[in-house]
Amino acid sequence: MSDTKHNWTKEEILDIYNKPLMELLYEAATVHRVNHDPNVVQVSTLLSIKTGGCSEDCGYCPQAARYHTNVEGNDLMSVPQVKAQALRAKASGSSRVCMGAAWRNVKDGEEFDAVLEMVRTINKLDMEVCCTLGMITENQAQRLAEAGLYAYNHNLDSSEEYYKEVISTRGYQDRLDTIDNVRKTNVTVCSGGIIGMGENIEDRAGMLVALSTLNPQPESTPINALVAVEGTPLEDEKPVSIWEMIRMVATTRIVMPETQVRLSAGRTQMSREGQAMCFFAGANSIFAGDKLLTTPNPDVNEDIKMFELLGLNPQKPFTKKVQPQTVEATDSEFQSLGEKPKWTRPEHKIERNELAKEKGKLIK
Ligand code: SF4
Repeated sequence: MSDTKHNWTKEEILDIYNKPLMELLYEAATVHRVNHDPNVVQVSTLLSIKTGGCSEDCGYCPQAARYHTNVEGNDLMSVPQVKAQALRAKASGSSRVCMGAAWRNVKDGEEFDAVLEMVRTINKLDMEVCCTLGMITENQAQRLAEAGLYAYNHNLDSSEEYYKEVISTRGYQDRLDTIDNVRKTNVTVCSGGIIGMGENIEDRAGMLVALSTLNPQPESTPINALVAVEGTPLEDEKPVSIWEMIRMVATTRIVMPETQVRLSAGRTQMSREGQAMCFFAGANSIFAGDKLLTTPNPDVNEDIKMFELLGLNPQKPFTKKVQPQTVEATDSEFQSLGEKPKWTRPEHKIERNELAKEKGKLIK
């Protein structure tokens, strides 16, 4: 039985985050070595299967329809298009494909059926399949699991308190409810957050309390550094320093020893030396490809060179958990229930989101 601690307090996490850096790094690297091979890093590919036009108001997101950004929206990709992209990702060393759709929540129907077919197709390529599709019900999670989904991503983004300063169109509890629905299946949970949104260190610790006290803890935790995109409410936020990123990665590693910690958005702003320190501090996954949904990401060849330089090896698929089986649509035991759950719309006002929305209207 795992002896992972599930009752971390904010004070304990802050004490870790604020340790002298060398001590923090040593402790994180020690925990990392006990639980993971320090020379293995997973390479994942993030594929935006449906971009833009989202009804939500996430302050960091250029895909929210209400803001004016340079993101060009597109309809849901076709299954053959997704398969071609997955094959390309596999050929360049990725063992996982994460498909993202800019939806508030999944709606039963043709589009969800197409996503289920994409999951079946990629799982049959012997790659780990992850989806990030917004809020989902238990039945939808079951259907994804049956198709062969390996992981479902649903980020908590920040602390519960600061979440209200970034998003007004859904509540923190909705996020936790979706994670709970995923947990009722054999699909693993991927959940993390973003630093650099104007939150304070207590909020970062608060997010780690929320994640680390889940039992079981998420199998995967992306740590993103905000990429401030023009036109979004957070466009003027200053980039986080590499030291903050290293501290956040190291703290995450210590409080969630078995989790795969993912260096996600913001990697283009990091030097190789900075990324190497993040790997030392316990990060063991990166996203490959020139785009992370809509924001820039380092070139694949640059990453290959970095792996060679650091002596890192890409992780093989299904090293942490066995490959799920795919059940064909015709043999499914779960049918669409046509549910229309009432996810919360707290609709409190966030001044900077309102301003960005008004500016967006004027420009459009
Ligand atoms: S983060 Fe997701 S839910 Fe929020 S606006 Fe962007 S696409 Fe929509």
